[in-house]
Amino acid sequence: MSRIRGKDTKPEMVVRSMVHQMGYRYRLHDKKLPGKPDLVLKRHKKIIFVHGCFWHVHNCKYGRVKPKTNAEFWEKKRTGNRERDKVNIKKLKKDGWSVLAVWECQIKREGYLEKKLRQFFVNS
Ligand SMILES: [Zn+2]
Repeated sequence: MSRIRGKDTKPEMVVRSMVHQMGYRYRLHDKKLPGKPDLVLKRHKKIIFVHGCFWHVHNCKYGRVKPKTNAEFWEKKRTGNRERDKVNIKKLKKDGWSVLAVWECQIKREGYLEKKLRQFFVNS
């Protein structure tokens, strides 16, 4: 069973504190980079995005939610986000950055995030 976290625990804060505990230093929301990445580890040339499943259309139960009111508006907005994400990640990779996208739903899974981050830091 996954651990139940406080309602006010923002996914981004969880990722930040874990990266920090692992001993990495980062910059937040660097406006000079495509997509204003949430965490930028300049020395290691690594970038971490923390995506909300709904807003960025993750392939999970939260990302598949379709609002009943203003359906068209939301669909357009969310699809736009997803397309922008793709373009930004492509640009960053072209410039030599390693990019990791962490999804909100993955943060809720016990142990998963830490494993994912460690793999990212070691392998790419
Ligand atoms: Zn998700």
